[in-house]
Amino acid sequence: MTRLPDPSVRPAGLADQFGRVARDLRVSVTDRCNLRCTYCMPAEGLPWMPKAEMLTDEELLRVIGLFVRDGVTQVRLTGGEPLLRRSLVELVAGIAALEPRPRIAMTTNGVGLERVARELKQAGLDRVNVSLDTIDSQTFTQLTRRDRLGDVEAGLKAAADAGLTPVKVNAVAMRGVNDESVADVLAWCLERGYELRFIEQMPLDAQHAWDRSDMVTADEIRERLSRRWELTPLPAAERGSAPAERFLIDGGPETVGIIASVSAPFCAACDRTRLTADGQVRNCLFSTTETDLRGPLREGATDDELLALMRGEMWRKRRGHGIGDPGFVQPDRPMSAIGG
Ligand code: SAM
Repeated sequence: MTRLPDPSVRPAGLADQFGRVARDLRVSVTDRCNLRCTYCMPAEGLPWMPKAEMLTDEELLRVIGLFVRDGVTQVRLTGGEPLLRRSLVELVAGIAALEPRPRIAMTTNGVGLERVARELKQAGLDRVNVSLDTIDSQTFTQLTRRDRLGDVEAGLKAAADAGLTPVKVNAVAMRGVNDESVADVLAWCLERGYELRFIEQMPLDAQHAWDRSDMVTADEIRERLSRRWELTPLPAAERGSAPAERFLIDGGPETVGIIASVSAPFCAACDRTRLTADGQVRNCLFSTTETDLRGPLREGATDDELLALMRGEMWRKRRGHGIGDPGFVQPDRPMSAIGG
């Protein structure tokens, strides 16, 4: 079992040594995906986790329940593609039954969402973020290696109709792919009432091909959008631990967010913790280490023993993600296996 720091100096709960406390749990419910976004994974996919290594629903709910008991107030389901987990609706219902009930969100590519949006809402899902990098069907097909833009559009509409609101759209801007059309994506989202957030591309691709000098920066995105709209930054105080810097569009009320994960990291305000589909706790997207819960869980660990492992992992959280530091090493697990 992990040795914990001296309890006399360590506060209770999911705290770290820099005064941050985890309240937002990202749970990857599968590493599989039905798209093959070129910046995320190779065309042939990845060696998927064997089912036996993945936490069962019962195991997931026990661990999520412990996180909630220890202060987590928001659970975000992600993956891989979370909609590929067959028991997703039951899982959501199980999380919604926890006391105190956490807010439940999901990050999805939207393919197949049309079919289950209402059921997910009824089970207790509060809202969704749908990933959509382009609204041009040819670019979408090239980028995701699948001709599914229509499914994503239908998924978004179904999410809004089901009340999974505010419906947010996440877009990664990539040079030579969609950087010239960021304003078109925003106009499209504004017309439909979706709240768009752009995200800087991060070194989390399975191919390890990320190149900082080629990254489309938050400043560039803002500059491009400013050619069409007047963007007014919302006061920093309103941001809290949210990763996106938000701007009023032409005076509002609509807003657009830009997440400068690389060029202006927000690690100091980070309140996130992560659980992978195979039961590893990670204190950061960019951790190169993680704490195994699955082994102890299956060997009969008590709740207190599991809590001690979770707290120990959070206590080791570094001050920042370190991208840009000379010694930065990209984690072995790609984004799809950590949970974005
Ligand atoms: N399949 C779901 C989806 O598409 O939203 C959830 C998992 S996906 C890994 C989560 C998000 O991570 C997506 O918005 C995707 O665009 C983003 N993403 C993947 N690789 C990324 C990278 N290298 N940098 C920034 N975002 C990335």
